[in-house]
Amino acid sequence: MNRPVVPDPGAARSGDEVAIVGAGIGGLALALALHRAGIACRVYEAAADIRPLGVGINVLPHASAVLKSLGVLDELERIAVITREAAFFNRFGQHVYSEPAGRWAGHDAPQLSIHRADLQGVLLAAVRERIGAGRVVAAHACVGVDDSGSGVRLRFADHDGAPLADANAAIAIGCDGIHSALRRQLWPDEGTPRWSGVNMWRGVVAHAPFLSGATMVRAGWLSVGKMVIYPIRDRIDGEGRQLVNWVAELEGAEPVRRDWNARGRLDDFFPAFADWHFDWLDVVALIRSTETVLAYPMVDQDPLPRWSFGRISLLGDAAHPMVPRGSNGAGQAILDAACLAGQLAARGVGADALAAYDAIRNPATAKIVLANRTTPPDAILREVHERSGDKPFARIEDVVARETLEKIADDYKRIAGVPAGSDASRRTP
Ligand SMILES: Cc1cc2nc3c(=O)[nH]c(=O)nc-3n(C[C@H](O)[C@H](O)[C@H](O)COP(=O)(O)OP(=O)(O)OC[C@H]3O[C@@H](n4cnc5c(N)ncnc54)[C@H](O)[C@@H]3O)c2cc1C
Repeated sequence: MNRPVVPDPGAARSGDEVAIVGAGIGGLALALALHRAGIACRVYEAAADIRPLGVGINVLPHASAVLKSLGVLDELERIAVITREAAFFNRFGQHVYSEPAGRWAGHDAPQLSIHRADLQGVLLAAVRERIGAGRVVAAHACVGVDDSGSGVRLRFADHDGAPLADANAAIAIGCDGIHSALRRQLWPDEGTPRWSGVNMWRGVVAHAPFLSGATMVRAGWLSVGKMVIYPIRDRIDGEGRQLVNWVAELEGAEPVRRDWNARGRLDDFFPAFADWHFDWLDVVALIRSTETVLAYPMVDQDPLPRWSFGRISLLGDAAHPMVPRGSNGAGQAILDAACLAGQLAARGVGADALAAYDAIRNPATAKIVLANRTTPPDAILREVHERSGDKPFARIEDVVARETLEKIADDYKRIAGVPAGSDASRRTP
C-alpha cells in the first residue's frame, strides 16, 4: 500500500457486513474468502502505509491449496521461489537429513518460500480489485469493539491516538497480529507474549543460488547457534542472483526488544556463526554482506480456551501466536480464514458461526502452538546435536537412523494438518 486509502463515507452505516481488523496475511485472506462466499466485508488497518517489512516465510501446501482456491496462487508462484526440499545440517555444515517439499513431495499445491511483504502485496491487490479499494480502510487502529447482541460497534484511533469515527458491523474479527487489541479486550489479564528463551536475527541479501536453488536449510542447534536460510525471490539481477532470507536463532539470557523494526547488533549473535564456512554456502559471507539486520525475540502465547465471544472473534496470530519453528503461523491464519468464511456462509453472519469456527480451529491450532515449543521439525537438529555430543560425525547413520528423523518430520506434519504427500521420490512438478 503506497498511500492511505480514504475511508468510505458509508463505513459507519455498514451494519450488515463483517469488520476485519488488520490487513495482514490473515485479514486479507479472510476478505478474499468472504468475497468468494458472497459476504460483504471491510478491512480496517492501523498502518497508514503497508511497507515491505517482515520476514521471509514458507507457505506449506495445505495453505497454498487455500490460496489456489482464492485465485491468487498463480500470481504468487510468479513471485515466490517454489521450494524443492527441506534440508537439515549440523553446525559443521554436514548433511543430516533432506526431504522433498510441496509438489516435489507429491502435493497438488506447492510450498512457497516468499517475502511476507510479497504475499501481503498480492493479497492486498486482489482485495482492492475484487472488493474495492475503499473497503481497505488504512490509518484506523481499532481500540475496542462493543457487542450489542445484534451487531458490533468498532472504535478507532489514528496514529497519534486521536479518536476517529466509529463503524458498525454485524461481527468483528480481530486479525490484528501478535499484539492484538481485540485479544487484549477479550482476555485483559493475559499479559504480554511469552519469551521462549531464544532470540532471532534476520536479514535478506542478494546471493547466488545454493544447493538446489530452492532449498530451505535449517542448520545447527539453538543452544550453540541455529540458522534457517532459503531464497525468497528468483533472478533479482543480471547475474541470476536470488534474494536470500536468513534467520539466526540463539538461546539468550534475556529477550531482545519486541519491535518489528528493531535493528540487531552483529556482536550479539555473529560469534556463534563465525566459523560457518561450508562448501555448499559461506554463511559468514552471507551475514557479513547483509545491509540491515533486524532482531526479534521468539515469542508465543499459551492457547486460549476460546476466541469467540458473541459477535467478536480472533484469527491468525491474534488467536494463536506460535514460535516460528514449523513454518505455520501465516499458513494457519490462511486456514482459519477458509474455515471461518465457510462457517459464516453455512450458518449466517452471526455468533453461531463464530462459535462453530472456534470449536474447529481452536483445538487444531492449540496443538501446533504446543508442538512448535517442543517437537517442531528442527527437533531433528536437537536429536543430532545431543546424540553426536555437538561434534562432527563420520557417518550420519552412526549417529541416528533416517527413520527416526523421518518420524520427527512426519509427526509434526500430522499435528500441523499437512497431509502426507504421495510418493515423493517419483513425482516431479
Ligand atoms: C522470524 C519469523 C519467521 C516466520 N516464518 C514463518 C513461516 O515460515 N511460515 C509461516 O506460515 N509463518 C511464519 N511466521 C509467522 C507469520 O509471519 C505470522 O504468523 C503471520 O504474519 C500472521 O498473520 P496475521 O495476519 O495473523 O498477522 P500479521 O501478518 O502480523 O498482521 C496483523 C495486521 O494487523 C495490523 N494491526 C495491528 N493492530 C491493529 C489494530 N489495533 N487495528 C487495526 N490493525 C491492526 C497490523 O498492522 C498488521 O497489518 C514467521 C514469523 C517470524 C517472526
